[in-house]
Amino acid sequence: MTDIYLGLGSNLGDRHTVLLSAIELLIAQVGPLVAASSFIETEPWGFESEHRFMNAVVHMRTELSPHELLTATQAIERQLGRTSKSQGGRYADRPIDIDILLYGDEKIDEPDLVVPHPLMHERDFVMRPLKEVLRCKKDHTI
Ligand code: ADP
Ligand code: MG
Repeated sequence: MTDIYLGLGSNLGDRHTVLLSAIELLIAQVGPLVAASSFIETEPWGFESEHRFMNAVVHMRTELSPHELLTATQAIERQLGRTSKSQGGRYADRPIDIDILLYGDEKIDEPDLVVPHPLMHERDFVMRPLKEVLRCKKDHTI
């Protein structure tokens, strides 16, 4: 089993319920939940929108490989009504976004998967909840 940290975000629909549904689906399809951060409300990052985000980070364990995990998280995004992905580096409103922040201590640099997630250190809406779930884990450096 590998420890993974996922960033969740929603800015359309009933955001709280969407995040809870995402966590339920992740538990069913990815593996057991170790810890979940609180849900925080944040401003859209990188694009203009009247819809504020609800963000959270979950710490889980999985037997899936990194690419199997990406396939699973993308399937869950579709199950929760996400119809399009961000195009050409442009961000958009979305009912759910699931980003793989950390996969054990692996470094992955492939066209469709970069881990640790390259922008996470710049994003307060990732780092604040991530620090919350890492708090109980000693000697973890990010
Ligand atoms: P964003 O999250 O930046 O708004 P998307 O969710 O639409 O964009 O994802 C765009 C692409 O990012 C996906 O097709 C996926 O292959 C790629 N990607 C690269 N690294 C990661 C990662 N660590 N977690 C999730 N997606 C990733
Ligand atoms: Mg994403």
